[in-house]
Amino acid sequence: MFDLKDLYMQVIVDHNKSPRNFHAMPDATNKAEGFNPLCGDKLTLYIKLDDKKMIQDVSFEGSGCAISTASASLMTEQLKGKTMAEAELIFSRFHDMVTSDPTAPANTEGLDKLAALGGVREFPSRIKCATLCWHTLNAALAGDKSATTE
Ligand code: ZN
Repeated sequence: MFDLKDLYMQVIVDHNKSPRNFHAMPDATNKAEGFNPLCGDKLTLYIKLDDKKMIQDVSFEGSGCAISTASASLMTEQLKGKTMAEAELIFSRFHDMVTSDPTAPANTEGLDKLAALGGVREFPSRIKCATLCWHTLNAALAGDKSATTE
């Protein structure tokens, strides 16, 4: 039988093992560091914005648990070619999904592969692992140098 949970687990394992866009970006226009003290996840996020504030390129480096690495990898895949406003909308949908009631069906509208992280709803201590990269993205877009989940 087709099991969505298994598929989501495979996506997370795959993105943790071989994270996409995992490298420094010397010509980034925006950059921020993120830290989740609860778990020890650390990452540096690099963004290249064009003159219309569209995300031309995005990459990250760092070390953390499987959830934080997979989340950052999936996020970078999702953000290329998006405007800052579109990125904010995706974050707000993602945040709603991972903090929603685990007994109700997850709303994954507009989230594509990010839906794979919906399972963290059942593990409140892991929500910050999944959202660290997004808080770091916000900091980078706002021109801040660092973000923390605490
Ligand atoms: Zn973590």
